[in-house]
Amino acid sequence: MKKNDIIELIIDDIGMDGAGIGRYDGMIFFVKDTVIGDRVTAKIMKLKKAYGYARLIEIKEASPKRVKPRCLYARSCGGCQIQQMDYQSQLEFKQKKVRGNLIRIGGFEEALIDFVMEPIVGMEEPFFYRNKAQFPVGEDAAGNIVTGFYAGRTHKIVANTDCVLGVAVNQAALEAVLGYMRDCKVSAYDESSGTGLVRHILIRYGFDSKELMVCLTVNGERLPKEGVLIERLCAIEGIKGVVQNINREKTNVILGERTKTLWGEPAIMDALYLRDTKNFQRTGEKTEYRISPQSFYQVNPIQTEKLYSLALDYAGLTGNEVVWDLYCGIGTISLFLAKAAKWVYGVEVVPQAVRDAQENAKLNGILNVTFLEGKAEEIWIDDSEELKTGAGRVADTGLPRPDVIVVDPPRKGCDARCLETMLRMQPEKIVYVSCDPATLARDLQTLCAGGYELVKVRGVDQFGQTVHVETCVLLGRK
Ligand code: SAH
Repeated sequence: MKKNDIIELIIDDIGMDGAGIGRYDGMIFFVKDTVIGDRVTAKIMKLKKAYGYARLIEIKEASPKRVKPRCLYARSCGGCQIQQMDYQSQLEFKQKKVRGNLIRIGGFEEALIDFVMEPIVGMEEPFFYRNKAQFPVGEDAAGNIVTGFYAGRTHKIVANTDCVLGVAVNQAALEAVLGYMRDCKVSAYDESSGTGLVRHILIRYGFDSKELMVCLTVNGERLPKEGVLIERLCAIEGIKGVVQNINREKTNVILGERTKTLWGEPAIMDALYLRDTKNFQRTGEKTEYRISPQSFYQVNPIQTEKLYSLALDYAGLTGNEVVWDLYCGIGTISLFLAKAAKWVYGVEVVPQAVRDAQENAKLNGILNVTFLEGKAEEIWIDDSEELKTGAGRVADTGLPRPDVIVVDPPRKGCDARCLETMLRMQPEKIVYVSCDPATLARDLQTLCAGGYELVKVRGVDQFGQTVHVETCVLLGRK
């Protein structure tokens, strides 16, 4: 067996990154774009001792789980990994992914996980769900300005303005920007040389408000003939703001530090509804949010309502609790919690997000919440007696002991010092919302070694057609 050999395999498993797994001659092969049950031929691309990677050549016999991808570029684009898999199978894959991580990385007993895990919450429509898109801008081989998505694991742009995960209005916004760039001879940024102007087009759309914001990240202070850009974008229904972010660094981080408003508002509004946690139907109660381009906001608002409602349900608040919401962003979860708690303290590192959070509290008339700017791992705890007994007022510099801690960290999970603080506080309950089951499993191991036990675990699919999954966990003090 050697590189470039064509082999025939039956796919009988799937890896964490969505690649199908088949066996040939005692070796395991990962074959991207295949589905459990497929019989395929594949070309060996890389061989290691016990496993290898092969590229799908032909599907000899399609699995009953296989569907025709909706997007023409599903295979080449790095955005979706499992569009060829029917949605029910995608959910099974994600359920298994969370379970597998908790057992392998977290070291939890299989029987315990099967006892505490509830079935994943799926989407009704697993397409057109994203309220945010970031399209890189570049030139194709013929020198035309294009936008689309990066091919898997590269920075080569697959030109496509019609992504099936995004909203329809994205296409109009992208065509308007591309048209402006072509007509006004505005250059695209070139990553290798660090020259050229427009780097990314960032679009945000409020599903509830129907408001649209377009942000261009630019390698420079000024855009030539910006009036033309504004005029074309303003022709699109719902446009609320056109903003420019300045990023002159040679980096693949999308946003620079400064954003200026070219036209309209520097933020959009949106609302999220509380849902019951039996059927996940909307209740009448809604919370409104103002969202700036730099602030984090969950990309799938419909599933987010389910996720936050679940987090609130897990927190089991009675109205008397002090709650910490760490990694709180623009206060989305905090405000859901505040309606049922005595006081909520949100901690967030991005200054603009903290300002949005404070605005959002005002906007919703919520008074029992304090937002603090800083790192979750650098919380200063006020151990004074009055605060311990709950009689004191909180200074802006310290936090009183929590009854419940909610955390929702980025993919890398919680900082070790943040976990230490949580354990020192010994709250009654911890609700952990995670977008990466691997770091979740690692952190849960630490928390469970420090006196907590798993009570409930539930996946919520926020990212149909991709291998990503959100998880909500309830921990109780032993
Ligand atoms: N709970 C919010 C945000 C979750 S995303 C929501 O659901 O919308 C994670 C957030 O953590 C981001 O807003 C990010 O800016 C913030 N963050 C990242 N590192 C942090 C740290 N060390 N301390 C506090 N916040 C941090």
